[in-house]
Amino acid sequence: MADKRDYYEVLGLERSASQDEIKKAYRKLAKKYHPDLNPGDVEAERQFKEVNEAYEILSDENKKARYDQFGFAGVDPNYGAGAGGAYGGGFDFGGDFGDIFSSFFGGGFGGGFGGTTARRNGPQKGQTLRATVRLTFEEAAFGCEKEVEISRIETCSTCGGNGCAEGHSPETCSTCRGTGSVQVQTRTPFGVMSSTQPCSACGGSGKIIRNPCPTCKGKAAVRRNKKITVKVPKGINDGQAISMPNQGHAGRNGGPNGDLLIGVEIIPHAYFVREENDVYYNHNISFTQAALGAELEIPTIDGKVKYTIPAGTQPNSTFRLRNKGIPYLRSDRRGDQYVTVSVQVPTNLNAAQKEALRQFEAAMSGESYEPKKGFFSKKR
Ligand SMILES: [Zn+2]
Ligand SMILES: [Zn+2]
Repeated sequence: MADKRDYYEVLGLERSASQDEIKKAYRKLAKKYHPDLNPGDVEAERQFKEVNEAYEILSDENKKARYDQFGFAGVDPNYGAGAGGAYGGGFDFGGDFGDIFSSFFGGGFGGGFGGTTARRNGPQKGQTLRATVRLTFEEAAFGCEKEVEISRIETCSTCGGNGCAEGHSPETCSTCRGTGSVQVQTRTPFGVMSSTQPCSACGGSGKIIRNPCPTCKGKAAVRRNKKITVKVPKGINDGQAISMPNQGHAGRNGGPNGDLLIGVEIIPHAYFVREENDVYYNHNISFTQAALGAELEIPTIDGKVKYTIPAGTQPNSTFRLRNKGIPYLRSDRRGDQYVTVSVQVPTNLNAAQKEALRQFEAAMSGESYEPKKGFFSKKR
């Protein structure tokens, strides 16, 4: 990679060459170095690749302009500078986004405020609300906005959260004098024990509602179905969660709302498999493509890209498409795509095809197909 030749030089052109001249030069050189016409010639194969790469850049006005201005850094995704254009800056979740928890289901959010202190009628933060968002492979890779339906407890808007019908207000509970809790004395063999318990007269709220609000029946809160728009950041993975502070259940007695935690579930892709930020993919090729080499059209999450496999490609060989993987959370980096080729052996050959293969076999006589030494002895 270090001694990459200038694309114009590869095609034997001046930097001022027109698209027509570029195409002509490419056709001439591609023919000259084509693997089909130079079987087994490793140097020709290398040149063929080089010519293809040069043409891929120079035939595309956009890429050409970037190459002209920035050189290889403008078009090679490994440099980062060029890759930023496609997805960089598209999503900015900044500080309002909250935290992404590495594990949604890991727990650690339980407990909280219930019953740990004596003052049950003080402000209490609302409960954490959990929801799930289902994303396609690409939505998780590139980020998106999604509507999620939640059912949450909200402060009753009819009574403004005091639980009373219009024109009424809550009375202070006379049993607990508004504290919500009472001291209870219990006789035990060890003496009189004193403990604090919630007031049963007011249910621990410290208030008595004589004329309840018709909407919430005095509970001061109602359950509502809501649609929430969630900003999904690029690169999020299955099992992670998006935290939306303050979007959970309503707090009590003027306490803040709980948080909303949205767990991410990624719908499996038809043919891509994600492993962290890398994408794994299996591509079927014919045995003639494997033997002769071929230019393949490989699907990636960015669309199809061309990749030339050399003559003599072996079954299950894997090659890497750099920076064609999943973007990283809050970073311009991307993973890679790994492509493994599966060589398909033809079935249902017709007579002519069988004959062609027999001739091929005859032409190959002298080549040895014997198993590698040691293979059988190892198996035993
Ligand atoms: Zn109400
Ligand atoms: Zn009370």
